[in-house]
Amino acid sequence: MISIVLSTLFLILCVQPTKAYSVFDFGYSDQENANPTQLIYNIASYSLLGILQYLLVSAIFEWKNPMPKNQRRMQNIKREIKYGTTQIFLQVAYSMIFYHYVYPYCSWYRYYSINQYGLLNFGYGMLFLYIWTTILGYWVHRIFHFRILYKYVHSVHHSFTEPTAFGYCATHPLEGISEVNTVLHLAELIIPIHPLMTLFFFEYITINEMMGHDGGEHDHSDHYRHHLYYVVNYGDTIMDEFFGTAYNSKNYPVKAKCTYVDNIEDRTEAIFMKYK
Ligand SMILES: [Zn+2]
Ligand SMILES: [Zn+2]
Repeated sequence: MISIVLSTLFLILCVQPTKAYSVFDFGYSDQENANPTQLIYNIASYSLLGILQYLLVSAIFEWKNPMPKNQRRMQNIKREIKYGTTQIFLQVAYSMIFYHYVYPYCSWYRYYSINQYGLLNFGYGMLFLYIWTTILGYWVHRIFHFRILYKYVHSVHHSFTEPTAFGYCATHPLEGISEVNTVLHLAELIIPIHPLMTLFFFEYITINEMMGHDGGEHDHSDHYRHHLYYVVNYGDTIMDEFFGTAYNSKNYPVKAKCTYVDNIEDRTEAIFMKYK
């Protein structure tokens, strides 16, 4: 399945038209005549790069993860990759359509060269994105835990009770698009943020999410326990502590069971501490 997706994307890249297209041209410089060929080129190249990065970086996390690569874990990873690759393709397509057909109508769209933004803009842009995604990310995730939304959408992601780094984007298509892309694009419509700055911040989110699902020592917001116990640690630790949803071991005297390893009593690695 993955090889079919990758070779199709590779073929699309090879047969690009004679005009030189750039991955840095998101199409928003041409409001009156958004270029569909550039759109297809962007979708193909960014999803190819995104999927390659996803497979490579998640594999490094998994290689360093002390959990045994037994049949159960490998089956879990295969399922995560199936959802994850589809999700990356859909997220890229959604964002590129936004940059081609919505972003040009934003009042600062002509101010689009990254050089015109400057370091100060980069600084407050990053700060704004951090605060914005911390607050909205937490609440959108909590909303996804409401009945119907959980049943039909978010339960896909929670079917991975002991995820790996590959599982960070293993979600229902609606979830990834609303929880990440829509939140980021709304920010771009509020203050001038260049798409490359968004991409930079998106990379930060991606690595952070991979660490969270890997469950190792760099799981800063203790997201692995969100998968083990469902109704704790929805987002950034600051938000969970403020709204009283942070994991507290006293509330969970019966601990979640590790299904990859029979006996974890002597294990001291960070991921095993999540089960204690
Ligand atoms: Zn959840
Ligand atoms: Zn998760």
